[in-house]
Order: sequence, then structure tokens, then C-alpha cells
Amino acid sequence: MTAENKVITRFAPSPTGFFHMGTLRTGLFCYLYAKKQNGDFLLRIEDTDKIRSKKEYEDDILGTLEWLGIKYDKFFRQSEHLDNHKIFLNQLINDGKAYVSKEESKDEPGVMREVIRFRNEGEIITFHDLVLGDITVDTTDLGDFVIAKDFDTPLYNFAVVVDDCEANITHVIRGQDHVPNTPRQILLYKALGKPIPQFAHIPLILAPDKQKLSKRKHGEGVSVRHYRELGYLPDALLNFMALIGWNPGTEQEIFSLKELIEVFDIERVQKSPGVFNVDKLNWLNKEYIKLLSLEEQERWIKEFLPESIHTLPHFTDERLHALVPVIAERIEKFADVKTMAENGELAIFFETPKPNKELLQFKGSTPEDTKMHLEKAAELLETIAEGDWNIEKIKETLMAYADTLPKRGPFLHPLRSALSGLEKSPDPFTISGVIGKAETLLRIQNALNIM
Ligand code: GLU
Repeated sequence: MTAENKVITRFAPSPTGFFHMGTLRTGLFCYLYAKKQNGDFLLRIEDTDKIRSKKEYEDDILGTLEWLGIKYDKFFRQSEHLDNHKIFLNQLINDGKAYVSKEESKDEPGVMREVIRFRNEGEIITFHDLVLGDITVDTTDLGDFVIAKDFDTPLYNFAVVVDDCEANITHVIRGQDHVPNTPRQILLYKALGKPIPQFAHIPLILAPDKQKLSKRKHGEGVSVRHYRELGYLPDALLNFMALIGWNPGTEQEIFSLKELIEVFDIERVQKSPGVFNVDKLNWLNKEYIKLLSLEEQERWIKEFLPESIHTLPHFTDERLHALVPVIAERIEKFADVKTMAENGELAIFFETPKPNKELLQFKGSTPEDTKMHLEKAAELLETIAEGDWNIEKIKETLMAYADTLPKRGPFLHPLRSALSGLEKSPDPFTISGVIGKAETLLRIQNALNIM
């Protein structure tokens, strides 16, 4: 590919709020499109709105892209290009294609201000949108639109065109909310004598209530950082976002970023809005959790494990390590670790519970039956060597006996209750596997002591 026909896309978020999920999806499609054609992906922070743009939001965008592993080939801020905007404003004025107009300010009634307007001759513009197809607009209706509030304050449509020309952008990929801006921008490209890029306007994202995903209606659930804080994996989030408004045309649903680059095809982006389905995100994230190594699962779990668990009397890294597969199997996202802790599902692994006589007894069993079953369980568990102590082996040993009984409940229930002290808990094999042989036998003994 030569430098002249190299694909260059740009992602142009405005730093006026926390990084929005819809904005992320736009950025992802710009990235995938560029990388698929071995092109460049540029990040331009559109900070010309001096009042609403904040450093905090820019940092959020940059930090999030880094977390997601989306790398850009160039970075700049629109505000760094003000001199350039001025040069082109002057060019248009000198060519008679724009003019200074003195008019009453909208913001300050009675005050006369100078604005710069584009001299719109009014023509019929047709452009081919890579997603929406041919779009034809009679620009007469747009009138002489304002392109700058003054020489230091260019407006969006003008600044974007100048910046896109200067960066040799070949493909402008953005949300469908920008379709009405495109005819204005095409008029400006023509007036500046610059080549017009290709456009692709991607569908909006709707919340499950079929309303546009917005902070006002859907709260924190619209920002990427919300999902990061909940412990979704970056790759799962990217995979999920790629599938909103686009599909590969096959049954495959799990794609790494590298695979997405390979299969992404802008022709397959749908015209109609995509729906943000959290259940699907949870499903995908769980699939990604399963794909992590034990070490990675452990690292994530540690990050979300509350301090209240670390300070329990029998907390050791070794025991937590044994618990990793148990937790990983039960969660959809890593913040669920906190929920498990809050529900008391984790403390039982790190402190010896007080046995509860009522809970120990299976309905219909006598205290004598309960005692006998607990003694039998202890006897069977004693036969397992320390080196063989694992959930599978424990299950095999106990079930071989439980299956000889008319019912398993009277045998397994007191054991589970002795090990957890709770009405509801993981099964006894899992608990013993994690807490180890000595602690298991101790808990059974504690239960026997109160029978
Ligand atoms: N800054 C605009 C936005 O955040 C994007 C403009 C564009 O892509 O042309 O929606």
C-alpha cells in the first residue's frame, strides 16, 4: 500500500463527560476499519468547547483506551490547531466563500457580535455512505451557516473539516447523529478545494428499553468506567461492543481484538440501531473469565476481594488460591466477588464457623442419625492422604458411600452444615477441598461436640 492510498481513520471524542459506551463503539469501529486495511488510526480530542471540555474527561478517555489495549498511531487535540483553523478561515474569506457578519448575539440579546458565515450557494449534494448508502441533500435549506463565532472560535463543522484535511483522513466513521452535519462539511471541503473523505455513519445504540442510551435516562451504565469498576474484562467489553450493530455473518461470538480486525467488515454494519443487552455482556464476560489462566483469575479476584476477607483469622494466600476456581465458576464479573463476600459466601472458607444444632439436622433425622453420619464422614475423610486432598477426590470418596444409602440427604446435609455453619452454602466437597484436611476434621469434630 502506498502512502497516497493508505487508509487513515480518526476517532474524535469530545472530553465533555466520562467516556460513553456509544463513543467507545465508534472508536472501536474506526480502529478495526483502519487496522484491517493496515492503515492508521488517529485520536483527536475535540476540545474546542472550552467551557464543557475537562482534563479529567480527557484523562478518562486516554486511560480507558490504554486499559482496552486500543493503540493509536497519532494523538492530538483540536485546540492545538487553532492557528490552522484561522489560516483556512482567512482563505475562505479572501476567496469570497465566507464572510464576517455583524448580528445580534443569541446569548446576549441586544449585543451586536461579529460571526463568520459560509456563503452557501445552495447545491444538491449526494454522498455515498458506506453504511447507509447514497444520501442526497438539497443544501439550499441550510442557508449561510455559521462556521466560527470569531477568528479564535471556529465551530465544530469547520474545525473538523480543517483537521480531517490536514491529517489526510480517508474515512470518517462516526455515529448516525452526525449525518445532518455531513452535507455542511462536504460544502466546506469543496470550498477549500480538498478531497472529500468516505463517510460511514454507524447506528446508534439503544438501551433495552429501546431508548437512546443516555446518561440522563440510564445513569452510570452509559460510561465505560462503570463496567471497568464492575470488573468486566477489557477484551470481553470490546467483543461485546463490536457485536452491537455489527455481526460477522457466522455463528461465532467470541473474538479477540486481533480476530475482530481480521473479520471486521464495514459492509456488515447494520443501518438500524443496535441494542445494548447486559445479559449478553454477562454471558460473554463469563466466557472470557473461563479463558483466563488460574493466575490471571487469582489476580482479578484479589483486586476485588474486600479487606474484610483478608483480615479473617484463617486467611492465607494458599487458601485463597484453592478457592479461585470455586469463585471463578460462580461469577459473571469480578465485582460479584464483593457480592459473594457480602452474602457471607466467602467468610466460611477463612474462619471456623460455630456449628448450629438445628441446622445440622436433616429433616426427619434424629440427633443420633446426625451424629452417626458425621462420624462416618470423618472416618472416610481420614482415609484420604494429604497429597490427594482435592475436591474431586473428596467427592468421589464421600459419594461412593452416600450412594449406598437409601437417601443421600441425611448423610450429606449435616456434613455441609458442619463445614459451613450456614443454611445455604457451596457443597461439602468444595468447602473441604478449599479449607484442607485438618480444618475439615476440626469442623466436623466441633459439630459432633454439640450433638
Ligand atoms: N466530537 C464528536 C463527538 O464526540 C465527533 C465528531 C466527528 O466524528 O466528526 O460526537
